Amino acid sequence: MKVAFYSTQAYDRDSFDLINQNGMHEFLYFDINLNIQTVKLAQGCQAICIFVNDHADADVLRALAAIQVKIVVLRCAGFNQIDLEEAKRLNMQVLRVPAYSPEAVAEHAVAMILTLNRKTHKAYNRVRDGNFSLNRLIGFNLHGKTVGVIGLGKIGLAFCKIMHGFGCKVLGYDPLATQVPDYIHLVTIDELFASSDIISLHCPLLSSTLHIINEQRLAQMKDGVMLINTSRGGLIESKPIIQALKDGKVGFLGIDVYEQEEKLFFKDLSEDIIDDDDILRLMSFPNVLITAHQGFLTREALFEIAHTTIQNLADAEQG
Ligand code: NAD
Repeated sequence: MKVAFYSTQAYDRDSFDLINQNGMHEFLYFDINLNIQTVKLAQGCQAICIFVNDHADADVLRALAAIQVKIVVLRCAGFNQIDLEEAKRLNMQVLRVPAYSPEAVAEHAVAMILTLNRKTHKAYNRVRDGNFSLNRLIGFNLHGKTVGVIGLGKIGLAFCKIMHGFGCKVLGYDPLATQVPDYIHLVTIDELFASSDIISLHCPLLSSTLHIINEQRLAQMKDGVMLINTSRGGLIESKPIIQALKDGKVGFLGIDVYEQEEKLFFKDLSEDIIDDDDILRLMSFPNVLITAHQGFLTREALFEIAHTTIQNLADAEQG
């Protein structure tokens, strides 16, 4: 099958080419995001392959249908970027990668905790500047600390397992969780906020979880709490978190995702970032660590994504 592959990241091609060695599909790689202007690149293809930052709204889907594209494969689990109702109406098949290496994201959350706590990012810059001073680099032991985990799905559970290994007390909140390992103490969300030294978000972005971290919730937390978000930006409300960082209520913030992310994905980062006051304000705090949605970015995860997507294309071809 001929597949229009939209990706601005070279690493995608490497993993897809490796898995597609037998040439089962013909991928046409386009170093650009999908949008109404770039739809025409898919002319002559039966399928398109896209990611979280490609917008497949109703207009885009109708334009794709007009050039006979019948299959959309997503190289991700989430599907907020595609108008599923319209896809159904147009009789298009939409397939995704529901799960890939939950450890990748869980380990990134842990890496953020360790970096913030031991101030490794500051120490690295200092030593490169020839400054070997240890002033203001004191961290704390993770052993014995209480870690609150919101969302006990694939990634949340992988994260809990690692934190338990560090000797942390693990509190979990998930309205749908039934059976969890013994070392996770299921608590109410209020209890979790009040008792945790570190809080890590691993729930999806839904109307019920939008701004789950807001002014009222921040007030419930311990002073100096560490917050980690590797899930979706909309889980944390930007303005109150900025205030909480100023007040010292939040002692550390690690975010791989942020509310303004989609906007940033679409244009050159530098230009957009200058206009974006909230992300700039967050960047100004030395106790804030921001990464560019790279939680999933391990070799293993990329191969799993490529493998499942190629299989999805084969399944879709067979109807
Ligand atoms: P999952 O579906 O396995 O687990 C999500 C869990 O959240 C479920 O157990 C669900 O019951 C729970 N949940 C739903 N509503 C909740 C609420 N109101 N409060 C608490 N828990 C709630 O998903 P997953 O694979 O573990 O992924 C978790 C999130 O990680 C995804 O939604 C996605 O946003 C994010 N993610 C990020 C990256 C990255 O690169 N940073 C990569 C993949 C996924």
